[in-house]
Amino acid sequence: MNDIPSRARAVIIGAGIVGNSLVYHLARLGWRDVVLIDKGPMPNPGGSTGHASNFIYPIDYSKMMMELTRDSTEQYKQLGVFTESGGLEVARTGERMVELRRRMSAAKAWDIPAELMTPTQVRELVPFLDDGVILGGAYFPTVGVVDSLRAGTLMREYAENAGALAVLANTEIIGIDTARDGAGAARAGGRITGVRTTAGDIETETCVICCGVWSPRLARMAGARIPLTPIVHQMISVGPIALFADTPGEISYPIVRDVDLNMYERQHGGDMEVGSYAHRSIIVDADSIPSIEQSVLSPTELPFTQDDFDPQLAQALELMPELLGDERAGIRYAINGLISMTPDGHPVIGETPEVAGLWSVAASWIKEGPGIGRAAAEWMTGEPPEIDIHETDVSRFWPHQRTVAHVTARAAEGFNKMYGIVHPGEQWESGRPVRLGPAYDRQRDLGAVFFETAGWERPHWYESNAALLERYEGRLMPRTGEWESRWWSPIINAEHLAMRDSAALIDLSAFAVLDIAGPDALAAVQHLAVAQLDVGVGRVVYTSLLDANGGFRGDLTIMRLGPDKFRVVTGGATGQMDLKWITDHLPSGCAAVVTDVTSAWTTLGLWGPKAREILTRVTADDVSHSGMPFGTCKEIEAAGLTVLASRISYVGELGWELYLPMEEGGKLWDAIWDAGQPSGLVAAGIGVYGTTGRLEKGYRAFGNELTGDFNLVEAGMTRPKVKAQDFVGKAAYLAQREQPPAAVLCTLTIDDHASSSGELRYPMGGEPVLGPDGAVLTDSRGRTSYVTSAGSGPSVGKHILLAYLPADQAVEGKKMTVEYLGEQFPVTVAVAGSTPLFDPANDRIRC
Ligand SMILES: Cc1cc2nc3c(=O)[nH]c(=O)nc-3n(C[C@H](O)[C@H](O)[C@H](O)COP(=O)(O)OP(=O)(O)OC[C@H]3O[C@@H](n4cnc5c(N)ncnc54)[C@H](O)[C@@H]3O)c2cc1C
Repeated sequence: MNDIPSRARAVIIGAGIVGNSLVYHLARLGWRDVVLIDKGPMPNPGGSTGHASNFIYPIDYSKMMMELTRDSTEQYKQLGVFTESGGLEVARTGERMVELRRRMSAAKAWDIPAELMTPTQVRELVPFLDDGVILGGAYFPTVGVVDSLRAGTLMREYAENAGALAVLANTEIIGIDTARDGAGAARAGGRITGVRTTAGDIETETCVICCGVWSPRLARMAGARIPLTPIVHQMISVGPIALFADTPGEISYPIVRDVDLNMYERQHGGDMEVGSYAHRSIIVDADSIPSIEQSVLSPTELPFTQDDFDPQLAQALELMPELLGDERAGIRYAINGLISMTPDGHPVIGETPEVAGLWSVAASWIKEGPGIGRAAAEWMTGEPPEIDIHETDVSRFWPHQRTVAHVTARAAEGFNKMYGIVHPGEQWESGRPVRLGPAYDRQRDLGAVFFETAGWERPHWYESNAALLERYEGRLMPRTGEWESRWWSPIINAEHLAMRDSAALIDLSAFAVLDIAGPDALAAVQHLAVAQLDVGVGRVVYTSLLDANGGFRGDLTIMRLGPDKFRVVTGGATGQMDLKWITDHLPSGCAAVVTDVTSAWTTLGLWGPKAREILTRVTADDVSHSGMPFGTCKEIEAAGLTVLASRISYVGELGWELYLPMEEGGKLWDAIWDAGQPSGLVAAGIGVYGTTGRLEKGYRAFGNELTGDFNLVEAGMTRPKVKAQDFVGKAAYLAQREQPPAAVLCTLTIDDHASSSGELRYPMGGEPVLGPDGAVLTDSRGRTSYVTSAGSGPSVGKHILLAYLPADQAVEGKKMTVEYLGEQFPVTVAVAGSTPLFDPANDRIRC
């Protein structure tokens, strides 16, 4: 029987790679009285960690995941459990060969060793591979395997030896208790007070769910949701392989990812493990995972369903016929292993929005486990994680995205894309449509091509605007490359030019709208925002929110609607995270209430030189420049409706954001549409709003340019004065202002788009920026330069790229190159800093 403490500072549930990494880092950060509980025995309690193939590829589509993997690899090396084997991705199709060239550029951008190989070169590394079935491969020499169970044991023991940790094995959590007072008063599910286990109860204010595929079940015990689902990943082990009989250690040959077939082959001692993501998606309910007693092997090694694997085995045989076809070898182990999948493929980390003190650290793989453990421990300690992990924030989901239906639909869709070729504009098909703006039917009738954000269907461009292509012929920057043309249309550029000539109506229903009201509302926004918010009623203020290190945590506008009322408008994708950040960072004892009013308010954008002419046809109120200057908002009567008009612009034109009750949005759309026809009004999509209009003005976007890795000085967003009032991140910001920036955000333009084949190519974002020696530029803090945003600038006739450059390279007119698809394209630094390329004096906005 375990000796169970009655109280703990934190209870960590789950002793897989994640739970063990977390307790290790908590101990290093000085936490004491931590308890780690698992229902299974140590060192292999029966979770997914116990049967992982344990290999780590350094490359990923996401910079954040790549950084977490890099950190984890370093940690595994320090623990002495990492074996470098090298790893390949082989291409069976021409499309994949092109993708591998893109992978090379991504590797260069993130400073990952990588090499493109011919089939013969691949065979030299993997002599048992039939090079006749592949067109080539990408080799990553730093791929390796780890002993994740040993790593977990070492980390757990470190925490125990530090006097920080008590470990309770064979102890199941059967309940999580909450109360609705104190920190829990404002949360739907209250706050954590303790856990109930099969060995007794423990009082605690902090409970962390590191339960992998079981996590939704544990969250539900406390009245919260962790949006992931268990899903089957089949793996077999074939042996004994004669060729491996005399090889030393666990692995002597590079791992092979047969990416076109969604499979991998990895030597494990005398056996070859073959894993597949190619079979049908087999979703398992977290509640139906068997107990240890019910399991033949372990709870996460479900019985193998042979029929699902057979087609894949045949394909694996094509690639390694002699080795896998050896009649002396047989299938020695075969499982339907369980892994976690989330709706967007990222882990789910952070305090749950429902219950104060309940944390999720889940949906992590072996490859990023220790990095996740470190970041989560930093976060729990109140420090901004060194690696910006906001994309993993468990609070990022809107309510419908936390439903079982949504999670399982997206998991089923995403499963076979595990090794897929991911396009940056790629759209999900499942679980749509969900959130429809009030003008959805009108937009569909106009041929809107809808992209999804935060569940909202947003027009990206309108096919009905194809008629504009003729008008703007010669200025549309057409693309012939299939990749760059995918999820794109020259109509976007035509809509952009029409907006700059007359005006555009843009649906912005996806904005998240948060009201902050109460006697201390001013104190609240002052504490949160960098900008001075003690402004007159009716002022609109664009501001950043910072973390304690001065990294970007939000980028939004705040309207002062009354002495004690402010309205925050932010992006749909970050809306729920911003809501939690704002709520969590109200000054203590602050008499202000934050309310999410997103579903009550819709927003229409009207911009262009004819915007005022059009607006005055539907309102008698004074919307002249003197009657309503830039940066102000006021209520107007328009088309018989009461509308909150806000004079700001993200596209560099005169115009307004028009806020009104959701159910009235259709009427305003119709009124503006009709009023605009004589002036040449067009409907324009987010392609203009988010890319072309934005980039011509050099406006920065959260998540692209504005991340935790850079600061206001480097982004060129400092203001002459810093407000006297304190705010989150102020000390760090003041220090940053005293230092010369290590990097400067620049606008680059491409000088020549011609590739070696003569085809014109257009980088899409993420590409490395290279110096004259062909090496990626790197600043004095070791940060590489890469394209943070890319897109057409139809009014300036240039393809525009934003990138942070080392300060000494951020010189206007300086020439450098950007690598795209393995070729180098010459670029010029058009702007060092934040001056817009288009209308640098902002005359078109302030008129
Ligand atoms: C076949 C296969 C191969 C894989 N190969 C790789 C690979 O090569 N590389 C890679 O990076 N990843 C790989 N993975 C993924 C990887 O195994 C998992 O993502 C990872 O192990 C998850 O770790 P974890 O700590 O979050 O969860 P787990 O290891 O599952 O740990 C969760 C723990 O929570 C405990 N628990 C659950 N409920 C309770 C309760 N009520 N009370 C107490 N304890 C509880 C469980 O007993 C378990 O020990 C593979 C997965 C599979 C299935």
